[in-house]
Amino acid sequence: MAHLHPTGLPHRSLVMRLIPTPYGGTLVEAILAQNQAKRLLEQQNEFLKIKPPIEQIYDAEKIALGAYSPLQGFMDEEDYTRVLNRNELKKGLVWTIPIVLTPKGDTKELKPGDEALLLDLFDQPFALLKLEQKFKIDKGEFAEKVYATRDTNHPNVAELSEYGETALSGKVELLRALPNQHGGVELTPRETREYFQKMGWKNVAAYQARNPPHKAHEYIQRLTLERDDVDALFIHPIVGKLKKGDYKPEVIMEAYKVFVEKYYPKNRVLLSALSIAMRYAGPKAVLFYAIIRRNYGCSHYIVGRDQAGVGSYYDPYAAHAIFDKYDVGVVPLRYQETFYCRVCEGMVSSKVCPHPESERVSTSQTKIRELLQQGKPLPKEILRQEVIQILERGDVLIK
Ligand SMILES: [Zn+2]
Repeated sequence: MAHLHPTGLPHRSLVMRLIPTPYGGTLVEAILAQNQAKRLLEQQNEFLKIKPPIEQIYDAEKIALGAYSPLQGFMDEEDYTRVLNRNELKKGLVWTIPIVLTPKGDTKELKPGDEALLLDLFDQPFALLKLEQKFKIDKGEFAEKVYATRDTNHPNVAELSEYGETALSGKVELLRALPNQHGGVELTPRETREYFQKMGWKNVAAYQARNPPHKAHEYIQRLTLERDDVDALFIHPIVGKLKKGDYKPEVIMEAYKVFVEKYYPKNRVLLSALSIAMRYAGPKAVLFYAIIRRNYGCSHYIVGRDQAGVGSYYDPYAAHAIFDKYDVGVVPLRYQETFYCRVCEGMVSSKVCPHPESERVSTSQTKIRELLQQGKPLPKEILRQEVIQILERGDVLIK
């Protein structure tokens, strides 16, 4: 593909401009042509229909768009079992989160070889499943091995109660994109890859978010943008199914849009939503998120303290350590916990600030949400005025 230099070697400047290949080598894209999709919709009454749990609706779309490359469909029993027990796919690639289709209710009439339509949140068909295999899953084992707990206070363990006992594996083809429920821009892996190429970005660092930006996030983003080995920052908030008490997706996207436009150079930052369900699986989720970002074209992945954690189920720095054990072809950029120091008069971490705890203002989201719920003013040391204005409008959290 690369142009050859007279020496016979690929021309250096062209090679340098390549962004990372998708995970597994090829970007999966299974989007039906418009006339095919139209024909299927006209014949929809002839198909069996499946309503997956919300997170699996998002998964079906992301499989077809290539966000989960090399997965071409929902996992079969062998992949599922390998992921649970060995953190790998049967192809040998590292993979930590099972991607299964487990609709609740009777699936007896579905047989391998059948084609079925998947329904979206509004019960409208959006994807075609070519059923290959049916197998039983043990939800207790799923919880234990993926989330390291069976405690139903864990939001993802709780949602297993909405799963059926039978998993349906098979390839997925997309009839149409899901309705946008966050109001922001959401680019596909193909689109971000094309954008990175157009901008001449080779090394793009992905920033995973699930909250409106505060100054600790900003500090880490700016440290990343200062690096010589990073061309640009891709801010990619997860805005699919979140949990009660999280910020609403539209609030996260609006706050980030205002913030990015006002404070960052346009030619070095891209913002786009990622509508998938949060997996609060600590280190396992972080590896999964890094793989997804590689599929969107990123070479680097920012890992803060306790990313994808919830409660105290995971060691806050296990998300850093897992990159030493598993290589998914993405360079982790690991950052310590950061806070505002009144003596340093800025955002710092304990790596650069010697002052006692009493001088530090925590940037904990829990504290910000508490202040919001009590109707108290939000601290200017840790939030930009533009973001404060959006949050103080009220009704910004999921009830
Ligand atoms: Zn200090």
